Amino acid sequence: MNLRDRLIDCLERREVDKVPALSVTQTATVELMRMTGAEWPEAHSDPEKMVKLALSGHEIAGLEGVRYPFCLTILAEALGCEINMGAMDIQPSIASNPYSGTSEIPEVPDDLVDRGRIPVMLEVTELLKKEVVGNVPIIAGLVGPATLTAHLMGTSNFLIGFLKNPEYVKKFLDFSTEVCIKHANNLLEHGADVVCIPDGIAGPDLIDPDMFESFIKPKYQKFCRDVKGIKISHMCGDIDAILEPLSRCGFEGISVEEKITNLRAAKEILGGRSKLIGNVSASGTMLMHSYDDVKIEARGCLEEGVDVLAPGCGIAPDTPLKNIKSLVDARDEYYQKG
Ligand SMILES: [Zn+2]
Repeated sequence: MNLRDRLIDCLERREVDKVPALSVTQTATVELMRMTGAEWPEAHSDPEKMVKLALSGHEIAGLEGVRYPFCLTILAEALGCEINMGAMDIQPSIASNPYSGTSEIPEVPDDLVDRGRIPVMLEVTELLKKEVVGNVPIIAGLVGPATLTAHLMGTSNFLIGFLKNPEYVKKFLDFSTEVCIKHANNLLEHGADVVCIPDGIAGPDLIDPDMFESFIKPKYQKFCRDVKGIKISHMCGDIDAILEPLSRCGFEGISVEEKITNLRAAKEILGGRSKLIGNVSASGTMLMHSYDDVKIEARGCLEEGVDVLAPGCGIAPDTPLKNIKSLVDARDEYYQKG
């Protein structure tokens, strides 16, 4: 069974021989950038560098998938945000919010596919597809609708808007959801196997679970209905309080971070509707501890029944290469020893 089939079968709830070990969140590290010569910030915009760096997560670090891009700013940039492109060890960030201080709702642009770095993303998708020839899953990331809304109107306007101007926020979320659907379908049509939408700002660390239910869940349901392919939700923080409604949105997989401490219970809440992905601490264990510590934590995830073994969040740029390799090693040992 090749790596692509294994991941797809797993997420589509068919029997698999082994738990896939990969990352649905960002995979680039400084070590991989040095080894490939594809460095940040250029690799965020240069298609060949993006391809090289994305492939290195599989070819060098051993992850059983290829995940790109390495930032959360592509849609925001296409819709008018200025972007600070960061540095070799700093991710790009949003430098302006074009819809702060207005009550305007933008229209989904007809030329979305031609804007900003979206053409780069589509080119990278096609190049990756040629490279992996169907053997390794291609996992494309794009921000979720809540994060995109926060980028465009500013995070504080977004959070305050829930209380002061809920109708406006709802309409803006409709717009962002349409943009996300359009971009996700484009990525899938160009050859991505899976799309993953990190959307931490919709989690209970920032918005009340009741608001998740009334504001976000309907948008996720629409996203999942309209996107023609496999969809994964990634949310940072302790999302215990929204796991149940999140599992009713239509995502094939839900990626959680290490703040979900009881994976067995989380899996029960998901009830088989979505597969559980996670959750070795990316900012703690993988970044700061040893190869063996990562292995121990990974084994714990497998014992608790995780469906896909993965870092809990984006891999930090300074993470040692051997700590990424440790994920697949842990999975292999788990099956050898039983
Ligand atoms: Zn995260």
